[in-house]
Amino acid sequence: MDVADLQALLPAGEPAFRARQIYEALYAKRIAALSEVTTLAKALRTDLEARCEMGHLGRNSRFDSRDGTRRYLLGLHDAKSVEAVFMPEEARDTLCLSTQVGCPVDCKFCLTALMGLERNLTAGEIVGQVLHLAQDNNLWADQKRINIVLMGQGEPLLNLPAVLKATRILCDARGVGIVQRRITVSTAGIIPKIYELAQAEIRPRLAISLNGSNEEQRRELMPITRKYHLRDLMQACKDYPLRPWEKLTFEYVLLRDVNDAEVDARRVVQLVANLNCKVNLIALNPGPGIPYQTPDPDRVAAFQSIVMKSVPCFVRRPRGLDIYAACGQLKRMESLVTVSPAIAELFAEDEDD
Ligand code: SAH
Repeated sequence: MDVADLQALLPAGEPAFRARQIYEALYAKRIAALSEVTTLAKALRTDLEARCEMGHLGRNSRFDSRDGTRRYLLGLHDAKSVEAVFMPEEARDTLCLSTQVGCPVDCKFCLTALMGLERNLTAGEIVGQVLHLAQDNNLWADQKRINIVLMGQGEPLLNLPAVLKATRILCDARGVGIVQRRITVSTAGIIPKIYELAQAEIRPRLAISLNGSNEEQRRELMPITRKYHLRDLMQACKDYPLRPWEKLTFEYVLLRDVNDAEVDARRVVQLVANLNCKVNLIALNPGPGIPYQTPDPDRVAAFQSIVMKSVPCFVRRPRGLDIYAACGQLKRMESLVTVSPAIAELFAEDEDD
């Protein structure tokens, strides 16, 4: 709920600042129960408690990786569950959030795709992931350390109203207080929604999952390309109104002998060279039922060195591979299959800020 929602909840005649008080208690003080909103009169507190539930997400399980990453399986009110990932680093902490339960986009290299879509998350369930992870990891001291990536389960742009509402609540300095430029949304390329996102006053940074170096290859890997062509996606990127501090990010999952050749790297350069952007390479994180292999590190390095000549290019270090928390591995896995440490060692280089 935002301030207006809370206002509507209050009995007629309550002054407007009451909604603000509840809002701050919920999102800035992170109270556990409405009885803790001590700025309200007792009678109003009791009334609210009788009529409302806090809606905090329950914890079904937490998996801790040896690299410090934590994957959470969080319970929703309808007995569904969704994943969120906490990734601590020296200079920052990154929270990876889900925007849908499952995902309707059938990318051939991603485990979440195998779930299909169960439902959209509400703005409350998106913000709720942040509150839960912040609470559990005691992230109070400096909200400026917190980065949020909407890169968990789901295609965020197919749930845009909830994503934008959650972003407004997360960025409100009087609420959760996350810095707007530290929130990034990633899309498989839902073109009309990219134009819609561009209109929002408060919006995350934009990342595009490119993953193919030409139309045909991308169609194979991301069948959604049949509907939203790569050519039109690149046009949407050209049209996208970047703010002064902003760059577009392109993500590119490298699949051995599929899209990891030098010719692919050169085609990627042609696609993005005229854009204010950076490229994040992700060597495939493997999973059961995924018919692709991870490229060798020298292949990744060769690809990077070609792209880097034109635009900044980083290799995303996988986090929580051993607990199925890395990119493309979120599928509510309850039992853990061991991933070879050799895979975890493939990646040395860090992403930039
Ligand atoms: N649906 C959105 C949000 C998910 S972001 C999107 O497609 O952008 C997750 C990122 O992980 C995407 O860039 C996706 O291309 C990448 N990814 C998916 N499966 C992967 C895998 N098995 N290994 C590495 N990266 C993967």
